[in-house]
Amino acid sequence: MDFNISENQKMIRQMVSDFAEKEIRPHVMEWDEAQHFPIDLFKKMGDQGLMGILVPEQYGGAGLGYLEYVDAIVGISKVCGSIGLSMAAHNSLCTGHILQFGNDEQKKKWLPKLSSAEWIGAWGLTEPNTGSDAMNMQTVGVQDGDHWIINGAKCWITHGKSSQVAVIMVRTGDARDSKGITAFVIEKDTPGFTSGKKENKLGMRASETTTLHFENVRVHKDNILGNVGDGFKQAMKVLDGGRISIAALGLGIAKGAYEASVKYAKEREQFDKPIAHFQAIGFKLADMATKIDAGELLIYMASDKKNRGEKMTKESAIAKYYSSEFAVDISTDAVQIFGGYGYTKEFPVEKFYRDSKLCTIGEGTSEIQKLVIAREVLKENAI
Ligand SMILES: Cc1cc2nc3c(=O)[nH]c(=O)nc-3n(C[C@H](O)[C@H](O)[C@H](O)COP(=O)(O)OP(=O)(O)OC[C@H]3O[C@@H](n4cnc5c(N)ncnc54)[C@H](O)[C@@H]3O)c2cc1C
Repeated sequence: MDFNISENQKMIRQMVSDFAEKEIRPHVMEWDEAQHFPIDLFKKMGDQGLMGILVPEQYGGAGLGYLEYVDAIVGISKVCGSIGLSMAAHNSLCTGHILQFGNDEQKKKWLPKLSSAEWIGAWGLTEPNTGSDAMNMQTVGVQDGDHWIINGAKCWITHGKSSQVAVIMVRTGDARDSKGITAFVIEKDTPGFTSGKKENKLGMRASETTTLHFENVRVHKDNILGNVGDGFKQAMKVLDGGRISIAALGLGIAKGAYEASVKYAKEREQFDKPIAHFQAIGFKLADMATKIDAGELLIYMASDKKNRGEKMTKESAIAKYYSSEFAVDISTDAVQIFGGYGYTKEFPVEKFYRDSKLCTIGEGTSEIQKLVIAREVLKENAI
């Protein structure tokens, strides 16, 4: 693994930092309080190549790799986790699924619109009664000639309302059969496909989360990604990549909380000296710096494998598990360092604290990451 930062990475880091300071930071709290999903911002991000980072140029994307992608998510999430989450869901899940498993015709049809953010993408796996236990999903597709008729519901879907296209996992075989699930691309104007309740969330409030409903939705077989029955396997592979982006989201939130904490600890004086001079505070900063550096290496290790096309199920789960947990730890310590001021909306750390918790839940909880890691470890060490 090359530890040098490439020219592309340097350029992306600078561009993202400038963009986030100008276009996002002034509005962070206004969007958070109003639970406003700033769709115009995503169009601007599309203009900058941030909504199709991994998509080859022939399909309208920026044609970059995973290292540049995670750097971009970190840079955005340092300023606003909600925007980082939406960017990750659009790039890794909906767009990423079509990119990895679509045929050339499907890629030409949907990827240019997604890469420019003319269309926002959603991805639906989770259902009201099946989250971690996704293989038991109840949304069902029944074949009718060249079409499939889909009925059911998905919940917790990022951009459920504002998206124009969604990749939806549907049961087309037996429950709990890994070959009983198929991935369909469904456009929003398809009759019977509607979005429902918008969730009122603890954090990530500028990232829209809604339910999706399917009532006799008729979808042509040309909208199936890969083959009938491939959907679950595809979704797990998509999540391998997606989890690196949630790790990057956690890292960005942690970096934002850490940088704010260092600054505040040097400025805030108690007992006639900056609080940074108290060992209790200095040790918190030391723990933060250590976890951030370790997490960054885990994320780059998983990204490097992904760029090489190698299997990285274990590495992405480790990166996601570790970064999510330290994002929560670091933002909790940040609130402590800020004292009473940290408990108010006048300072940025309370938002990092609220936003960070999503990282331990979305795209597989920390408990599920541990199940994945343990399974991979046991496979590697089979007797
Ligand atoms: C803001 C937000 C955005 C989201 N966006 C999307 C999206 O775009 N698309 C999408 O498909 N989903 C999305 N999700 C859903 C998310 O992936 C699920 O919430 C997550 O997978 C957990 O499922 P659950 O909420 O049903 O929890 P459950 O599966 O009910 O889990 C509840 C608790 O039980 C634990 N648990 C469950 N099974 C086990 C086990 N076998 N061993 C040990 N512990 C276990 C879990 O770790 C957790 O602590 C989003 C969620 C949120 C909050």
